[in-house]
Amino acid sequence: MTSNSVKGQPVQDFEQAFEELTGRPAEGVWAAPGRVNLIGEHTDYSGGLVLPMALPQVCTVAGAFRDDEQLSVRSRQLDSDAEVYPLDAAPGAVEGWAAYAVGIAWALRRAGHRIGGAELVLDSNVPIGAGLSSSASVGCSVAIALRDLYGLELTGPDLAAIARDCENDFVGAPTGVMDQAVSMNAKAGHLYFLDTRSMQAEHVPFDLDRFGLTLLVIDTRTAHEHSGGGYASRRQAVEDGARLLGVPELRDVAPADLELALIRLDELADPAVGRRVRHVVTENARVQAVVEILNTGADPRQVGPILTAGHESLRDDFEISTPELDAAVAVALQNGAYGARMTGGGFGGSAIALIDTDRRDEVTAAIDKAYAEAGFKSARFFSAVPADGARRLA
Ligand code: ADP
Ligand code: MG
Repeated sequence: MTSNSVKGQPVQDFEQAFEELTGRPAEGVWAAPGRVNLIGEHTDYSGGLVLPMALPQVCTVAGAFRDDEQLSVRSRQLDSDAEVYPLDAAPGAVEGWAAYAVGIAWALRRAGHRIGGAELVLDSNVPIGAGLSSSASVGCSVAIALRDLYGLELTGPDLAAIARDCENDFVGAPTGVMDQAVSMNAKAGHLYFLDTRSMQAEHVPFDLDRFGLTLLVIDTRTAHEHSGGGYASRRQAVEDGARLLGVPELRDVAPADLELALIRLDELADPAVGRRVRHVVTENARVQAVVEILNTGADPRQVGPILTAGHESLRDDFEISTPELDAAVAVALQNGAYGARMTGGGFGGSAIALIDTDRRDEVTAAIDKAYAEAGFKSARFFSAVPADGARRLA
């Protein structure tokens, strides 16, 4: 047992809350983080590259066994009453947030792992629907809780795959594997560079403090809806593009072959497909370029223009930005940001800006002012510091 604190709260608080809600002691406490993606957006379902980091914000799960083959879940954010489901609940049988937890048990069992029931209490400070992957933090925290309660021999990458299966096949959100992989496997102080084709990962040092820099997260508080049509239609276009080009995945289109590929697509498909393909192929190249710069130990200011180019690609080619996200990026850049982009799946959520730490107040004030003038809901700000992936706290 380790004593620990998370979200500025001692772990005993979660044990105590569990006991108050369920009338029995917790047998363990686990946590899994949200994430922010530095670059590599919508590349993780076509074998591409991603470069996210885990956040200090986590979903915490306190849990204990149940011996009746049922899963009882409570979320201190969404519900105080327990929702109880049989372990053999099928996809479609669980509505709402509980699917993100019950689907983990389902995915574990589908993969042949033997688990029994559990009583779980979730408490999270990852903003929900802000493009910071609160969903993966729920899935990954439940996954390590069930692993430890039932003594399963599963690694972080194994559990990331389980958590992805849960979102894709039980919840019905067609996401790639980035969110779950970084939430499970990230390392403090580092970006998590993942090749989603080979599943090879590398921890890339990311010490902004040393350079007087801050990665500002601007949560526009406009929610996205991943299981909604926009995300699915982009995914479809990416798959159509690969099929029309005769390659297994867009990862197989080298940047040098892009122009030719676009000419071919122009003859075969709706022009939007070509734009989606251009985003994915150029985005993989941007991730590669950012990793190369950071791995030399160079000043991270150098990656700024690549981040901004990533935003333009998401805005103009992938067409998933919003007026709020575009304004956050534009105002940050006008106020000295070295680079800025929307982050996450799009259609709302958060933007990031790489700024000098001593200009933070200036940048946030300028965004506040621009948002007020545009009649937008006021944004929420925090500085992203790369944190550890999923872990047992007690
Ligand atoms: P994101 O992952 O970007 O925050 P998603 O739409 O993928 O947005 O996931 C949000 C969903 O995850 C919520 O609608 C809810 O179903 C579930 N979720 C996230 N955090 C919690 C929480 N603390 N308690 C219960 N469910 C949660
Ligand atoms: Mg999500």
